[in-house]
Amino acid sequence: VVDQLRQVQKMEAVGQLAGGIAHDFNNLLTVINGYSTLLIRALDASSPMRKEAEQILRAGERAADLTRQLLSFSRRQIMEPRVLDINRQVKSVQKMLERLIGENIRLVTALAPDAGLVRMDPGQLEQIVMNLVVNARDASETGGVITVETTNCELDESYIHLHPGSQAGSFVRLSVSDRGQGMTAEVKQRLFEPFFTTKEIRRGTGLGLATVYGIVKQCSGYIEVISEPGQGARFDIYLPRTFQEAESQGKQQLDEPIDTD
Ligand code: ADP
Repeated sequence: VVDQLRQVQKMEAVGQLAGGIAHDFNNLLTVINGYSTLLIRALDASSPMRKEAEQILRAGERAADLTRQLLSFSRRQIMEPRVLDINRQVKSVQKMLERLIGENIRLVTALAPDAGLVRMDPGQLEQIVMNLVVNARDASETGGVITVETTNCELDESYIHLHPGSQAGSFVRLSVSDRGQGMTAEVKQRLFEPFFTTKEIRRGTGLGLATVYGIVKQCSGYIEVISEPGQGARFDIYLPRTFQEAESQGKQQLDEPIDTD
């Protein structure tokens, strides 16, 4: 419990720090990206400088992506929990997930009709699915398969016994699995640490799973990871099931604009 508390506090601190920095950086990047776009437009297509200006813009856009991730990592305060049908939420991001993983990897969904309802922020649920699927993609090779699965499960005392820290009750289980490179025990142990990444610097921030962890903890859920080197990975996210009626679900913004002041 002490370890968990320490972890939560660490995440809070990192989140606040990251959010502050990301906000300032985002404002600076708006200037860099704005002017490099103008510069590219002003340069003749044959000009050698145009390629260089395009590289500035590409790097700037990548940096803007990172700040967006940092902002959403630190922005847990503006949560709007609602009652959501898990399957419906997964379906609403399916197209986007397919675009994210590209044509060389297949996305399979297996949604149990009675998977159930959860009470949480729709944006946060999307983020969990997205972060897990992006990791599965990065671990997979061409021709790989990523499965997103929902089921409902009743966890009784015998299960809880095997998984200290979890609570008995009704859960919706959201699983993302891949047949990719898998991970070693060392990686598995550090997986949820903010800024822990094994990816090259341009690809990974190490915030994906820290974000997932923060969101899941906030909804009193928990996470199980099954993985061996070379054997793929499976992330099971257990979210407490709610039995309230689902609220009407309007279309949610996927890319909420970043506030600049
Ligand atoms: P990032 O994706 O930016 O590296 P994450 O927090 O999302 O940050 O992931 C941390 C690390 O966990 C990854 O760098 C990778 O080593 C490992 N990891 C996460 N998901 C998987 C997966 N599906 N298969 C293998 N390794 C994974």
